[in-house]
Amino acid sequence: MSVDAKDPLREEPAPARRGARFPVVDPATGETFGEAPDLGPDELDAVVERARRAWPGWRADPAARSRALLDAAGAVEAAAGDLARLLTREQGKPLAESYAETARTAARLRYFAGLAPRTRRLDDGRPVRSEVRWRSLGPVAAIVPWNFPLQLAAAKFAPALAAGNTMVLKPSPYTPLATRLLGSVLAGVLPEGVLTVVTGREPLGARLAAHPGIRHVTFTGSVATGRAVAAQAAASLARVTLELGGNDAAVLLDDVDVEGVADRLFWAAFRNCGQVCMAVKRVYVPARLHTEVVEALAARAKAVPVGSGLDPDTRLGPVSNAAQLDRVADVTARALADGARAAAGGHRLDGPGYFFAPTVLTDVPPGSAVVTGEQFGPVLPVLPYGHLDEAIAAANGTGFGLGGSVWGTDPDRAEEVAGRLECGTAWINHHAELSLAQPFAGIKDSGVGVAGGPWGLYGNLRPFVVHRPEDA
Ligand code: NAD
Repeated sequence: MSVDAKDPLREEPAPARRGARFPVVDPATGETFGEAPDLGPDELDAVVERARRAWPGWRADPAARSRALLDAAGAVEAAAGDLARLLTREQGKPLAESYAETARTAARLRYFAGLAPRTRRLDDGRPVRSEVRWRSLGPVAAIVPWNFPLQLAAAKFAPALAAGNTMVLKPSPYTPLATRLLGSVLAGVLPEGVLTVVTGREPLGARLAAHPGIRHVTFTGSVATGRAVAAQAAASLARVTLELGGNDAAVLLDDVDVEGVADRLFWAAFRNCGQVCMAVKRVYVPARLHTEVVEALAARAKAVPVGSGLDPDTRLGPVSNAAQLDRVADVTARALADGARAAAGGHRLDGPGYFFAPTVLTDVPPGSAVVTGEQFGPVLPVLPYGHLDEAIAAANGTGFGLGGSVWGTDPDRAEEVAGRLECGTAWINHHAELSLAQPFAGIKDSGVGVAGGPWGLYGNLRPFVVHRPEDA
């Protein structure tokens, strides 16, 4: 078992020096298989300066930008095989999911290539011609996590570049390689300095967020780091957009068809090994259906093929890194110590790599950390409820507010119940499906600002108003 192996990213980072590198580990084996540059402050300054110099040219011509972003989408598609394999090696997800992530990366570029802000004339009844135009912000920064390195990066750079900004993009040090490859693929079609990928261990992210040359910090990651990023960006009063953690509840109604929804519900919780911000992280079930739901989910957890993402039979890969495996194991052990029972899994898997058995927990005390916090792994608590009001109160009863879902055979009733969820997105009879055109915004600790769709584009722009009296 290699879980106790030293995690190089949790060791003290080496003092920044030119040419420094850090190791990248394959979570399916626990072995180092690559390395990436560990950027120091001078190198970061140079990158931000290049982004500043590239901005005037990039913002000047919206039509050329749109063409370049379409070319970028094509370049990503052409490199899909190499990107997907590297993503699976460093992140662990099954290869088919890496291909899907690459396709979603290209789709985001295409979508935002076709969006432009609208100039608006305002009329408040006075003899004034007021016009609202939209301007880019300047060089901006994106900091992203390791669960969907490519598509989360694209969710940031596609709207930012479409808006006319230039960007410095920092992936997680657990998953720097596919993003570096993406950066070099895009460098073939974008002007120099428009998008630069920087890699390194902390404090690189902190330096980037605090950099005086950066006008917007768009961050996806945990709540704790999001708070730190907001504080760092306050130094230069850069705008911040924070897409943070979630603890989404799925509420099953008493008319739910358990076998009919079990597959969808299972994958809504376990896809990408549960490492999805808007995965189902808690299931609330009417007490009389509790055993049936636990058995349906546990049967699937026991049957799902777990293994290396490169094996075509694998449906669930390893947990992405040793630190996350430790967190998942710890939160599960605490639930079991609190009196929970594992209807499936509940333990690490023997052998090399960071594997955890897909786990369904029952008899979990509602105050247990696996219910109140974000497990971010292949572990799902199933909780019985008496009255629907109790389930809604529990679903809304954490500090998170990313998403939620309601499941039943009467979709109108389910939708009515979903309207009571306090979160950014509520789904009926499914979970975590997103359209490129919709706004994505968590509430409470789950986020600040809006991404996605035209809202995501405007989030990367500032209004510029020309106010002209008619008699001027
Ligand atoms: P994390 O917060 O540890 O790291 C996110 C990024 O921030 C990484 O690039 C990391 O290197 C960087 N970072 C770390 N410390 C920093 C600091 N002090 N200053 C600036 N940057 C710093 O998150 P993670 O473990 O990589 O990702 C998992 C979390 O991301 C989960 O909480 C998950 O819910 C969340 N997430 C949210 C969304 C969303 O859209 N809401 C999407 C995916 C993941």
